Amino acid sequence: MTIAEGLKPISGDDETIRAALEQADIPALMVTLAHLTGDMDILRGDIRPSVEFLGDPNESIPEADQARVREIALAVLRRYRDEPFEPDNPAETQIREMMNFLTGQEIGEDYVEFLEAELSLNGEDPYAQPEIFELPAAQRAAFKVLVIGAGMSGLLAGIRLKEAGIPFEIVEKNSDVGGTWLENTYPGCRVDSANHVYSYSFRPQDWPQHFSAQEVLRQYFSGCADQYGLREHIRFDTELTTARFDEGSGTWTAEVRGPDGPRTLQANAIISAVGQLNRPRMPDIPGCERFSGASFHSAEWRHDQDLSGKRVGVIGTGASAFQFVPIISQQAASVTIFQRTPPWVVPNPDYFQEVPSGMHWLLNHVPYYAKWFRFSMFWRAAEGLLDSVSADEKWQVSERSVSEANEQFRGQLIENLKAHLGDRPDLLEKCTPHYPPGAKRALIDDGAWLESLKRDNVALLTDPIAEVTTAGVRTESGNEHEFDVLIFATGFKASDFLHPMKIYGLEGVELHEAWNGEPRAYKGITIPGFPNLFCCYGPNTNIVVNGSIIFFSECEMRYILGCLALLMKENRSALDVKRDVHEAYNRWIDAGNRGMAWGRSGVNTWYKNASGRITQNWPFTLLEFWQQTREPAPEDYSFI
Ligand code: NAP
Repeated sequence: MTIAEGLKPISGDDETIRAALEQADIPALMVTLAHLTGDMDILRGDIRPSVEFLGDPNESIPEADQARVREIALAVLRRYRDEPFEPDNPAETQIREMMNFLTGQEIGEDYVEFLEAELSLNGEDPYAQPEIFELPAAQRAAFKVLVIGAGMSGLLAGIRLKEAGIPFEIVEKNSDVGGTWLENTYPGCRVDSANHVYSYSFRPQDWPQHFSAQEVLRQYFSGCADQYGLREHIRFDTELTTARFDEGSGTWTAEVRGPDGPRTLQANAIISAVGQLNRPRMPDIPGCERFSGASFHSAEWRHDQDLSGKRVGVIGTGASAFQFVPIISQQAASVTIFQRTPPWVVPNPDYFQEVPSGMHWLLNHVPYYAKWFRFSMFWRAAEGLLDSVSADEKWQVSERSVSEANEQFRGQLIENLKAHLGDRPDLLEKCTPHYPPGAKRALIDDGAWLESLKRDNVALLTDPIAEVTTAGVRTESGNEHEFDVLIFATGFKASDFLHPMKIYGLEGVELHEAWNGEPRAYKGITIPGFPNLFCCYGPNTNIVVNGSIIFFSECEMRYILGCLALLMKENRSALDVKRDVHEAYNRWIDAGNRGMAWGRSGVNTWYKNASGRITQNWPFTLLEFWQQTREPAPEDYSFI
């Protein structure tokens, strides 16, 4: 095994190493030491992290023990610096012992293959699709794919198709790549999944913060487009309006509208990578158009509007408002927030923290440290809180909690609310949700949101809004609130999948008519009657508490390439998922969602469509999705 490419040699003096170790993630460091030396004793002693989602495992290790680990590490790294050596490959049992140590539990047999792939110690690309490379290059080169969208999933599609030697074209409605990370520029916008996991598995980055800001993410995706030579494949400022499948030829014909007017494109397959959260949703409040001041949606931030000294009204308290209110409240004369439903707040002290310089040093210089650190983050973010948001059949049905673990989780979250708002019972009451944790998207915070609510110039109102007037907002209690600027932080048209495109499949049936308000797909990817149409981040692939959505896109792309390989192997032009397979799958998904907090609770959320069905969420483990999407089963499909 060779030491990871891009790793810098350890050239620093003892003091440099010592200083870096002060900022090490101790459990990841301990495993790295075992890996480097082959000596597992360090993992078998009395120093063990306690691994819980809401706590930092480092804090569970007493300072004296941390110092002992750092001393051992200093000795090992000094030796490595003075006489670099190639560590032996750990045996399977050793890898498992390391994983058990970092996860704080005996990893189940079914997890081992999955986690080993994710860890990729042998440098293999865990989400690549090997099947496609077994086909003749000429066959691959004769196939053409049209990708819709150049955000996180669309770029990934481009990278994987290019690797596979399959010609492709991407249409992108914006003038640049990045999707959500290009569009959302509101103050304070940042990723709220740990960044070392929220990145392509094959393109790790030395992130400046644990949860980096929008511009850093935009640059990451832009850099990927450059690095993988994708820009020449992208038609910018171009929207796909309609696509039609032709049964005779087994191909798609798409109408797109771009800077040069309408154009027709042909493709063997279409990959929709349009995301779930990119069509801003204006609320159905009467009078929104009447307001005479400046008003805009948070995803279409008006940077020409200087909020300094202004009276600002904010409608909504979701993930977007959560991030910008603490910032704008420092400039505006006043910020009045209209809250309909309070979100649960999950504390994370790292939320705004820089990755410390010592940690950067370790990630860049110490062999395997970055891998084990990512693995540890992946595990903690992966199956994370799933158990605490799963419903217990025997638990008394209520809007309070759905199981004992959920009740405990609720208690922890209430403690955090009290820690910040104990001195403001009025706010504590308004900010305490009356639905189970997990029923709606919980928001990560280190206290910035809760503390900003206490500012003298911030008011949190829970009076329902009656209407928007020319001067501001009138609530149902009759109070009028006047504003200079009104911001709609009211989310996205999430359940309008693939909106507003018109996609015509077999027998000319239009996708949205086929769905009839109930978007469904097989594994979130394929839809019966729409051969060779593949979705990334399609129905029921959103995650609530576990993992990063990039993981899902990587799994989806692997599956999609598996489908293309299958087609080419069978020498057929298109594949269509069988209706009974799709329906059985969706019954399984619906039953899974009914067993989760978001399926039990009656609270309104963008996870549900108008009929109340959970159309967005994946209710199972990441392992399950990984297994489901390893490769397509030929018997699930009819071939054309
Ligand atoms: P959101 O979570 O859907 O929040 C919309 C807010 O507007 C909610 O508070 C909602 O109240 C309120 N609202 C909607 N219609 C209303 C009405 N008629 N009257 C009063 N209030 C109304 O939207 P978002 O904050 O833009 O976030 C959407 C999703 O995007 C997030 O859940 C997340 O997945 C993603 N996101 C991620 C990040 C990140 O990772 N950093 C940041 C932003 C967004 P109710 O709760 O009562 O419906």
